[in-house]
Amino acid sequence: MSYFADLILPLPLEKRFTYSLSPEEASFIQPGMRLAVQFGKNRIYTGIVAEIHQNPPEVYEAKPIHQILDEKPLLTKEQLTFWKWIASYYLCAEGDVMRAALPGPFLLESESIVKLRKDAQPDSVELSDDEYLVTEALQRQSSMKIHEVEQLLDRKKVLPVINKLVMKDLVDLDQEIYEQFKPKEVRYVRLNPAYEAESEMHRLLDDLSRAPKQREILLSYFSITAKSKKALKTKKLIKESGANSGTLKSLIDKGIFEEFYQETDRINYQGEISNQEIILNKIQQQAFDEIRKNFEEDKVCLLHGVTSSGKTEIYIKLIEEAINRGKQALYLLPEIALTTQLIKRLQDYFGEKVLVYHSKYSVNERVEIYKHVLNNSEKGRIILGARSCIFLPFQDLGLIVVDEEHESTFKQFDPAPRYHARDSAVVLANLFKASIVLGSATPSTESYFNAEHNKYALVELTRRYGNVLMPEVEIVDIKTAHRKKKMTGHFSERLLDEIKESLKEEEQVILFQNRRGFSPIMECNTCGHSPQCPNCDVSLTFHSHNNQLRCHYCGYHIAMQQQCMACGSNEITTKGFGTEQVETELKALFPEHNIARMDQDTTRGKYAYEKIITAFEAHETDILIGTQMLTKGLDFRKVSLVGIMNADNLLNFPDFRAHERSFQLMQQVAGRAGRTKKRGKVLIQTYNPHHQIIQQVSTGAYTEMYKEQLEDRYQYQYPPYYRLIRLTLKCRDYSKTNEAADWLARALENVFDRYVLGPEFPPVARIRNEYYKNILVKIPQKQSLGKTKKVVQRILTSFRAIGAFRSVRVIVNVDPQ
Ligand code: ADP
Ligand code: ZN
Ligand code: ZN
Repeated sequence: MSYFADLILPLPLEKRFTYSLSPEEASFIQPGMRLAVQFGKNRIYTGIVAEIHQNPPEVYEAKPIHQILDEKPLLTKEQLTFWKWIASYYLCAEGDVMRAALPGPFLLESESIVKLRKDAQPDSVELSDDEYLVTEALQRQSSMKIHEVEQLLDRKKVLPVINKLVMKDLVDLDQEIYEQFKPKEVRYVRLNPAYEAESEMHRLLDDLSRAPKQREILLSYFSITAKSKKALKTKKLIKESGANSGTLKSLIDKGIFEEFYQETDRINYQGEISNQEIILNKIQQQAFDEIRKNFEEDKVCLLHGVTSSGKTEIYIKLIEEAINRGKQALYLLPEIALTTQLIKRLQDYFGEKVLVYHSKYSVNERVEIYKHVLNNSEKGRIILGARSCIFLPFQDLGLIVVDEEHESTFKQFDPAPRYHARDSAVVLANLFKASIVLGSATPSTESYFNAEHNKYALVELTRRYGNVLMPEVEIVDIKTAHRKKKMTGHFSERLLDEIKESLKEEEQVILFQNRRGFSPIMECNTCGHSPQCPNCDVSLTFHSHNNQLRCHYCGYHIAMQQQCMACGSNEITTKGFGTEQVETELKALFPEHNIARMDQDTTRGKYAYEKIITAFEAHETDILIGTQMLTKGLDFRKVSLVGIMNADNLLNFPDFRAHERSFQLMQQVAGRAGRTKKRGKVLIQTYNPHHQIIQQVSTGAYTEMYKEQLEDRYQYQYPPYYRLIRLTLKCRDYSKTNEAADWLARALENVFDRYVLGPEFPPVARIRNEYYKNILVKIPQKQSLGKTKKVVQRILTSFRAIGAFRSVRVIVNVDPQ
């Protein structure tokens, strides 16, 4: 009887790959385990067993496996089902999902290791230049990995060279698989048990009377261990005895102390549980009960609650209930880096039951969390994190909370799988029969539409917690202000007055300036030229702190120019402005106040963001200037004023979601104002005071905005009425990009007719010297999604078979954001 295993390999393959198993292997191996297998010439990959069966593959002979890596499955049944769904829905390979889903160290990699044979005598006459170079290098170093050979010869395909050397009996190949994951080990010391008896102890102290430093360590050891029975860390002993590690080492060498190692968890919650009970107010309780009722009917729940209505407290209560039933809970956030406050709130309440899964954490920390979830341990009952958390190996998931569900960062953009974590979470919840709540103060049109059409249940919170009033919004017309010369730099008189007023009252101010495309650009007043990136079709932007012109797409930079690069004129001005410029102006206007800036440039380090937030919370900062980072669920007590520097560049973005996004963004920033008793104030500076979105923000008219947007979506055939698949072609050759795009668009039009848009160049058509072109496929509601995708796949397969287009890559994005 023969056995076979279908494996998912971490490669963009359309299908799973089949390997043969011996009967012993087949009886041991289960789906979800990892196997090391050979794929391609000399490559060993880690594959995940998806299925075991007895049907040999038809078109190739199944190879045996190389090695079994796990003793029990690393993946659950549900994960395998989930991966399959993601791959088929988002039109990508299961291997793509695998790479996104598993922490790197689980994807063991082999490298062929090349060694010179002992008896080898390379002769330069008989060898090609490349071959000789390799043997020469191997005389200097004992072994080389394939990629090192690639570097040495400065090209990709080196296997033929190595193969020749193998044939000439000069080198050996050696496959080596290595575990990269190293549990963090901590050193401990203990007294050699031989000295434990009291008499021995005294003898020892006498013996050491002439080595006072060593004696000191011993005495410290006794005093610490008398107080605590816990194993003693080497570090602690050295610290408390005031000795150095050399002295301790001599005691270890003498056999008086023994040193041992223990694996520890890296992730330890240090704080205390505050046990502060949360008592929901009447409105919250009502919402809570409604949500529970809907959960009983297995309905996805959309919680639409205005900013500061206390949604978080409701989530905490729901989580508490889930874990009391012995379930696991998942709390999804758009961007984990921006949620220090929330993490703290949850940890204060649940202690170390909460683990945070974070891409900024080391892989080792991620491996640990993965294991906690897989083992369904107490630690990590509650997982808090951004989109990739949906890939954790939940055993018994009871609840998913998707906070700020409208955020577009839930959608993975690059690389594949280009999944939407909110939508995928709904599928995940369904797999576990778990409850799921999506929450937002400004729900996405898609989710609200689902609620309106009874696909989701809608629960609303229309009041702020503690009867705090919604902030008062004032629109400042800066066109008129400019004309009347009532602007100081980018500040209107109104805004400056309000800032002064707040500062006088010792309150804090938040200023919002959208980053998107609006760092300053240099422009020549004489000829209109502005310096361009040589690799991308964008203007370079000016960064004053290092006096550079930079490309935001590829990082290209040059020193700031004093003269126009085209005509040599000295008359250069800056156009547009970013957070940095707002900061500079503000510092000149309010020299005696502390001003901080929060944007991508100031939050690069691991704790940079936390520092800015903490300083602002502690009121060490009076004014905080920032980009959309500021919009994310921050809860400050003393902010009485929020200023939006320029609303127009949000509105003018060429995208069908631009208006909805502008509304959400402004509404969220506005929500940072006046979260306590005193009513907050929001000032919006704009050139278009009558724009309907700005009017809607000023009155908080969410449903009005929604209805209007929905009408547009219907008229112009966009989601939620039509689904979208965007195909992006990418190539270094301009005319090839065009040809390929035309071919693909025509092939799609043959089937989908007028529902194909483009091909069209995106606003930035060239990035890093590659040209981009988009084709959009619209899928009407009555058309089968599954069938449509099959057709798209089929057309792509034909496309890829065309030799002339081999250099053109096609990126498929289902439900693009
Ligand atoms: P949202 O997430 O809806 O914007 P939050 O959950 O941040 O609102 O609540 C706003 C503020 O009100 C927070 O400071 C929070 O601690 C407080 N709050 C909300 N509900 C309660 C409650 N039931 N008990 C005590 N404080 C609450
Ligand atoms: Zn010029
Ligand atoms: Zn560039």
